[in-house]
Amino acid sequence: MSIIKKIKSIILPMRVTGKYMVSKPFTVMYPREKAVVKKQWRGLHGLHSNKCIGCGLCRMACPNDCIDYIYPEGVDPRDRKQMKLRRPAIDWGHCIFCGLCVEACPTGAIHHTQEYKIYATSDSRLDLIRTPYEIATEDDVRKIYDDELSKIRELMQTDLLEVAAGGEWEEVIKKLRERWRDLWYMKLDGKLDEETWDKKAREIEEIVLEIIKQVSLP
Ligand code: SF4
Ligand code: SF4
Repeated sequence: MSIIKKIKSIILPMRVTGKYMVSKPFTVMYPREKAVVKKQWRGLHGLHSNKCIGCGLCRMACPNDCIDYIYPEGVDPRDRKQMKLRRPAIDWGHCIFCGLCVEACPTGAIHHTQEYKIYATSDSRLDLIRTPYEIATEDDVRKIYDDELSKIRELMQTDLLEVAAGGEWEEVIKKLRERWRDLWYMKLDGKLDEETWDKKAREIEEIVLEIIKQVSLP
């Protein structure tokens, strides 16, 4: 290599280093600094619950089976007229943040927020699955669960638990949910009193929770 080439090979990288030493960095000192994201950022989902019409398009659009629906307490999902009352639950543990559910939503109910921080606060896979009440934007709808079993009770309406568990557990949870659903329908039909329903449903929910706790985080 000629002497000129050698000098160039030293000076050119130094010029690049020098340029970036005086320009604003692209990175931030996370978590001390919060990143400012663009308006188009596909962050964690939010739900304008009062705009949702329960149409089912977000679930149909999802390529990764991350969405299923929850009906409010006392509402019978077998009655198709009540479909408008259901709201989407979402599994961020499987979500690829493609935005297809948001694009498909005809009312702008489900949307991406600017939030990008996603974490599980315990070893439980459950932390990454959010009920519609947890992602609701309205204060009077939003809910924080006191215990995991209350959240499991609501998620038992969805197939998100078995999809999250995957592998050999998928079929086990599916079967347990079928049993749970039979009890639920009996309660809705007035064939099971509240106390018996609560006791029997709780037994199944406890098993499902134990299984979900064994599932490693994605
Ligand atoms: S953003 Fe997530 S939930 Fe929505 S369609 Fe894509 S994978 Fe499914
Ligand atoms: S969030 Fe939108 S697409 Fe999903 S059920 Fe509600 S209205 Fe339909």
